[in-house]
Amino acid sequence: MKNYKGFLIDLDGTMYKGTEKIQAAISFVQQLQAQDLPYLFVTNNSTKPPSDVAAKLVSMGVPCTADHVFTTSMATANYLKEQNASRKIYAIGEEGLYLALEAAGFELVESDADFVVMGMDRDITYEKLTRGALHIRNGAKFVATNGDVALPTERGFLPGAGSLISVLSVTTGVTPTFIGKPEPIIVEQAIEVLGTAKEDTLMIGDNYATDILAGINAGIDSLLVFTGVTTKKDLETIDKLPTLTMDSLAEYDL
Ligand SMILES: [Mg+2]
Repeated sequence: MKNYKGFLIDLDGTMYKGTEKIQAAISFVQQLQAQDLPYLFVTNNSTKPPSDVAAKLVSMGVPCTADHVFTTSMATANYLKEQNASRKIYAIGEEGLYLALEAAGFELVESDADFVVMGMDRDITYEKLTRGALHIRNGAKFVATNGDVALPTERGFLPGAGSLISVLSVTTGVTPTFIGKPEPIIVEQAIEVLGTAKEDTLMIGDNYATDILAGINAGIDSLLVFTGVTTKKDLETIDKLPTLTMDSLAEYDL
């Protein structure tokens, strides 16, 4: 197996399942830290700031600071900066998205928006969707944090960001630019943050449709762990396979 020098790691289904730790993954990251190998947790969850994500990981015994976390809200803010986007954004989302946009210097507005940026919003209302739709119809560009349609939880599959975003796409006929996995945008930015060469970087995750495709789309190697969403059986019908597969990260020989 190739000697990778940098690791992009998914969270839910890879490091933990809801509130339950995945011990093999935690030990793996502890080894990365001990060997000074850089790693970055890459998540499509746009709702929380990186410090909150880090706190959850630390409570599970994962060596982690806010600098080890890269959320799709941060990637979205970076993407808008790279576009030299105007500073006026109508944002629909939660704290993680608002903070990331403000930290990048954007002004969050209710009227005269040049961009509508949407992520997961568990307090979505008809009024927010109405404003978003009207801004888009008035020419605002439409950017979305991620397209995940369903959120796996203890209660079952709940509506994800992609489901809420689809209301705006259907209403306006405009498909947004998506930033999160499986899009390469978030992975390309994460590699830049990590600072390793593309060919030395490995994307690790449990979900073929998001994590692995994001790695493939960004042109880097990928490792699918069977601790979450995708099963061995799922892979039987897939053409572009991940570079590596493992039952758990306990099999990874660092
Ligand atoms: Mg996952």
